[in-house]
Order: sequence, then structure tokens, then C-alpha cells
Amino acid sequence: MKIKNWDIFVFIVFYHLLLVVLIPAAITAASWPAILLFFVTYIIGGMSITVGYHRLYAHKAYSANAFFEWCVLLGSALSLEMSALKWSHDHRIHHNHVDTEKDPYSIKKGFWYAHVLWLFDYQRDYDASLIPDLLKNPRVVLQDRYYGVFVAGVNLAVFGIGCLLVGPLASFYFGVLLRIAMIHHSTWFINSLCHTIGSKTYARELSAVDNALLALLTFGEGYHNYHHAFAADYRNGIRWYHFDPSKWTIWLASKLGMADKLRVINEIALQKALVLKDKQLILAHLEAEVDTVAAELKAKLEDVSTVFEEKAAVIMLKARELKQASDEQSKTIQKEMKELRASLKLTWNEWIALTKQATKQYDLAH
Ligand SMILES: [Zn+2]
Ligand SMILES: [Zn+2]
Repeated sequence: MKIKNWDIFVFIVFYHLLLVVLIPAAITAASWPAILLFFVTYIIGGMSITVGYHRLYAHKAYSANAFFEWCVLLGSALSLEMSALKWSHDHRIHHNHVDTEKDPYSIKKGFWYAHVLWLFDYQRDYDASLIPDLLKNPRVVLQDRYYGVFVAGVNLAVFGIGCLLVGPLASFYFGVLLRIAMIHHSTWFINSLCHTIGSKTYARELSAVDNALLALLTFGEGYHNYHHAFAADYRNGIRWYHFDPSKWTIWLASKLGMADKLRVINEIALQKALVLKDKQLILAHLEAEVDTVAAELKAKLEDVSTVFEEKAAVIMLKARELKQASDEQSKTIQKEMKELRASLKLTWNEWIALTKQATKQYDLAH
């Protein structure tokens, strides 16, 4: 690979070197307030990317008021990851062309390419038709036009405040250098590790994976297989126990009146779509197989998916009935729905077991 973006290359190499060279000095300058300064700037900068750039701007998973947007646009200056406009432009290409030549950070070009090398290689083929909504947003356009001013202003202000609180060296090391490095690698991990190590529950055909450990580092973005399958959802970790602070922040912002139109995928509709997709995928792979085991598997896939669809349809129907029911009727319907959901869950588990068996038996994971 030939380096095309020398400015980015020099910047990234230089700050990593500085990060290492200054370790002895940083150890002597370290203090609890300095570590706190690191965490505060890391969280603000990192969450501005996940909550703001990613879920608000790139995916329109919810809408936010001007105050919230300004918090994001100013906070993101701490991450040094380009303007919201350019970031979203490239990210929409990633989703539209994932795992192909057009994907800016395609994992097919290797782990380190997807992690960081792409930044030295990438030539943006700017396409305004990818971001019409963002070009209409005056705040986003302003941040893009004066991005350098935003970055310099916010970072100098943070460094200045840090100097007063913990001294110049600790402020520079913990509040600037270490913070930038940690935010960069967290984001880059999503493009590298989250396309390499983890499980694929929602979109088996993609390289994206769910990795709970990475969710800890990336403010919830580790559930990347779900995200690639249902990018419009404001959540990446959909279960209550999934560590997704970006989801919690957006939810809290909605309760405080700063965000609304939070988009979620209906659980049953989601599972139904998955059953259909998995079935098509596996049957297509099994087409050439003529042995009895494959024939049995095909029949079982048809059976279980039909049962699932029938049960799902009944629940959807009951949900509609519930809307028009009287108080007394609704109690009975709710009870029925509870039982139906439990029964659907069993069929869902049966389906998952079946797809796992097929994946293992016929090596469909790749
Ligand atoms: Zn995305
Ligand atoms: Zn991805």
C-alpha cells in the first residue's frame, strides 16, 4: 500500500511516538485528577462520535434539538475524527458497500487496513447525494466548514483548563495525547475487531460481529452484527443487560426533551425477518446437497419456519385486537399473548439451534 495522505500519516505516527517517549515524564506527573481529566475527555469525545456522529447523523436513528446537536458537534472536536459531514458520508458508504472494494475500511483488505491503514490510503469520492439531509442541517454544514477552528478552539480550551487543574505536562499527556489515542483506537476497533472476532446472530452473511467485550470500550458499539443488520435502530445492544451507554444517553436525552423519534425494530418483526433471511441463505447453500441428512434438514427448516411465522402472525393479530379491546377483554388477551410469546420463544430457540447445526455441518459461516 502506498501512502496517499501524508498529513494524516505524520500526525498519527508522531502522536503515537510522543505517547511512548513521554511515558516516564507522565508517570511522575500523574495524579488522580489527571486520570479523571483523561476519563472525562475520553467519554465526552468518544460518546459524541457514537451518540452523535454515528447514530444521530450517519443513521438518523433519532432526532435531537439544536442544543443537543451543539453538544455533539463541539464534543466531537475532542475525538479528531473529521467533521460530522465527512464522517457520515464515509460511514454510509461503509454500510452500503460493506465487505466490497468500495467499503472505505473493508476488512477484506486485512485487519490493520480496516483498523488504521485505510486512513493513509483513502481518497474520498465525494457524493452529495449520500448526505442530502446533512447538507440541509446548518449546524453540521458550519462544523464542516470551520472544522479546524472547532478542533483548535475546543482542544486549546480543554488543555488550558487542564493546565490550571493538573499542570501543563499532565494536562497534555492525559487530557490530550492519551485521550486522542484511546478514542481513535476504540473507534478503529469497531472497523477491525468488530468485523473479526465475535458472534453473528442477525446477519450471517456479513463480516460484522457482536462482541460484548468491545462494547465496554466503545460505548456500546460492540454489538456490530445487530447494527449492520438493523442500522436504523437507535440501540446497538438491544437487551437490557447489554452494555450500551450510547443507547442509555439517547434514551435519557429523550426523557429530558432533547431527543425524540427514537427508532426501534419490533422484536417479533425482527425475528421474523431473520427467520426468513436465514432460511433463504441456508436453503441456497443446501441446494447442491442431495444426501438424506440435507433433505431432513431442509424439511425441518421449512417446518420450524412455518410454525414460527404462524405463531408470530397470531401474536401480531392479538396485538391489534388489544388496541380496540375493553378493559375486561384486554386482560384475557394479555394473558393469551403472554402464553403465545412463551410458545414463540420456544420455536425461536428451536430455530436458532437448527441454524447453528446447519452452519456447523455445512460450514456456512464464511
Ligand atoms: Zn453504522
Ligand atoms: Zn461495520
